[in-house]
Amino acid sequence: MNRRQFASTLGIGAIGLALSKTAFPLADERPQIAITIDDFNLFGTSQEVAQKRNRALLNALSTHANLKAAAFPVGKHIDNELGKSLVREWGEAGHMIGNHTYSHWFYPNHSFEEFSQDMLRVEPLIKDMSGFTKRFRFPALKEGDTVETRDKMRAFLKEHGYSVGHVTVDASDWYIDQRLRARIAATPKSDLSGYKEYYLNHLWDRASFYDGLSKKVLGRSAKHTLLIHHNVLNELFLSDVLDMFEGKGWKLIDAKNAFTDSVFSAAPGLWQKRPESLPTFCAIQGKMVSTKNRNWTSSVSNCNNAESCLITTMPNNSLHRSAGQRASQPCS
Ligand SMILES: [Zn+2]
Repeated sequence: MNRRQFASTLGIGAIGLALSKTAFPLADERPQIAITIDDFNLFGTSQEVAQKRNRALLNALSTHANLKAAAFPVGKHIDNELGKSLVREWGEAGHMIGNHTYSHWFYPNHSFEEFSQDMLRVEPLIKDMSGFTKRFRFPALKEGDTVETRDKMRAFLKEHGYSVGHVTVDASDWYIDQRLRARIAATPKSDLSGYKEYYLNHLWDRASFYDGLSKKVLGRSAKHTLLIHHNVLNELFLSDVLDMFEGKGWKLIDAKNAFTDSVFSAAPGLWQKRPESLPTFCAIQGKMVSTKNRNWTSSVSNCNNAESCLITTMPNNSLHRSAGQRASQPCS
């Protein structure tokens, strides 16, 4: 029985079918999304607070069907007993541990030699941990801004047995976290429900957008990898994030599963200088979206500390409106 027959059997009819498809996709059409957690920047917090944060993040995942994420710690943040113990807990709980460089440098500002050595520098900290996987995430998702540096790094990763930890859903949890921490510091007993609501809406906006883009570029929904960070925002709201995706009809999948999607073995042309998710890049390469009006992050960063700014300047969706024609094989 196909979906239409199934719908008419239920007496839903064409209108009901359209609604049901929009509101809650059938199981075999559900977009899939995995969680990836970057950086492990503890911002100098105490051991007790850091461990509590780590447990809250792990707990949010384990209470959602024992979901397995991918962790991409930055070496300089975990080059101490506390940092290593936090990451080790992720590995022991079955999560993937990847490499996100030691110094979190922006590759275009460094030579290939410097950058590649910095990438290797993190290995001694994590290679003996359970869950260690040779998967590399570029800081700020920058693969290099010249063909030469890009290709040198691609060859280097291949030589060392690494795959790239691509992102398909890029978001700005880091910025909301920054605002949240400032608020907590200024007024410790603040009502934070507005931040939660804002964060959930933001992630849903980003995920919906990138899933739509993925369908345009690839002709299908990719197995998504969401990039978020080990921070206070997710300590408080990761569980709500996972509930939200499930509530919207998306399927939560393990990161290891997500990375099997063939889109992740694409080797697109030159990455733009701005952070981009993989489908966005493919779309830009295929001239499906304009690179103009991409001032979303900067408009946020330039904003002063008025709380209203959080509401009014995020996000700028102008990119969404400029899709052109579908290019042939934009990301092959
Ligand atoms: Zn990072």
